[in-house]
Amino acid sequence: MQTVPFLDLKAGYLELKPDIDAAVARVLDSGWYILGPEVETFEKSYATFCGAAHCVGVANGLDALILALRALDIGPGHEVIVPANTFIATWLAVSAVGAVPVPVEPTLLTYNIDPARIEAAITGRTRAIIPVHLYGQPADIGTILQMAQKRGLAVIEDAAQAHGAGYKETRIGMHGDAVCWSFYPGKNLGAMGDGGAVTTNRTDVADRIRTLRNYGSREKYVNEEQGPNSRLDPIQAAILGVKLNHLDTWTARRRGIAQYYLDNLSGVTLPHVPNWANPVWHLFVIRHPQRDTLMSKLAEKGINAMIHYPIPPHLQAAYSDCGHAKGTLPLAEQLADDMLSLPIGPQMPQDAQNRVIEAVNQAAATLPPVDQVADI
Ligand SMILES: *Cc1c(COP(=O)(O)O)cnc(C)c1O
Repeated sequence: MQTVPFLDLKAGYLELKPDIDAAVARVLDSGWYILGPEVETFEKSYATFCGAAHCVGVANGLDALILALRALDIGPGHEVIVPANTFIATWLAVSAVGAVPVPVEPTLLTYNIDPARIEAAITGRTRAIIPVHLYGQPADIGTILQMAQKRGLAVIEDAAQAHGAGYKETRIGMHGDAVCWSFYPGKNLGAMGDGGAVTTNRTDVADRIRTLRNYGSREKYVNEEQGPNSRLDPIQAAILGVKLNHLDTWTARRRGIAQYYLDNLSGVTLPHVPNWANPVWHLFVIRHPQRDTLMSKLAEKGINAMIHYPIPPHLQAAYSDCGHAKGTLPLAEQLADDMLSLPIGPQMPQDAQNRVIEAVNQAAATLPPVDQVADI
């Protein structure tokens, strides 16, 4: 029995192999290996793709968040609102600058931060909100921006899973004070190594991150402030440039698979899409109260499902001193217990999609029934 992989990264390479190989060779032949024209070209293309004025390439998504926080002067003594349900990097960035991550629960409908719960988490020390467009589904950014504006807070978006995601008539990447991207290989726009970027319409934020990422230096051997070495690698930039040309096509394939799942899966709780959202389905996440049983039944049929994420940040050892004990963020904890990510990806064959649907439906039929769509 052939396994259905969770995501086939090599298939993505093979589809574009001649162009990717040529792009890598071009950088090697150029003799220019740090920043330079390849990085600048990609930055321009990605800013245009997002509808943002600026894009600054950095080393990875975590650094994108850290540098965005630093560019907005957020640090010790400050609080930053983060989703309780997210990949831990969102929290780690806040902690890395010496600020305190303040978690806000998700809505069970979209798995994203619940805007209605943000207000109550704001204190005199709050400086920013970091919504995460989790699993490729945009958070309610319009409502969050309005709230932030009223309170004088910055909005830093964690868009690491949302390349090309649509919010109303726009794309994610041009709304907040800084929008942070990861090009980790498994992301929708993935490099062949680490990579990241920040897009923004704010010239001051772009300039500051451009300086910070390079030892705090704009001009060689002139250091305005203390900054890390966090530069997007030109080989990765060249590869990303090739892949960006295919991103809309690959996203369309993901949307096709998601729709096929939505139309054909039964016996599990399916993801809900608000009418203003056009998700890019980085992950296709279902819910079931007997998730572990469902997952092992899928494994028996060679289907590699995964859990994103099995332990919420506040219950990780890394945050044992954060003051949020088990039971204090029950919605995030419930999602960690009942969510399951099904295989999805731009190169996923039709027969693999059919096998996933058949395996889920068969397994769910042996388990107690659930609501097909989450309760609000
Ligand atoms: C991947 C990811 C990050 C971190 O990106 P890296 O490039 O791996 O550092 C941050 N936030 C979210 C939501 C992610 O999925």
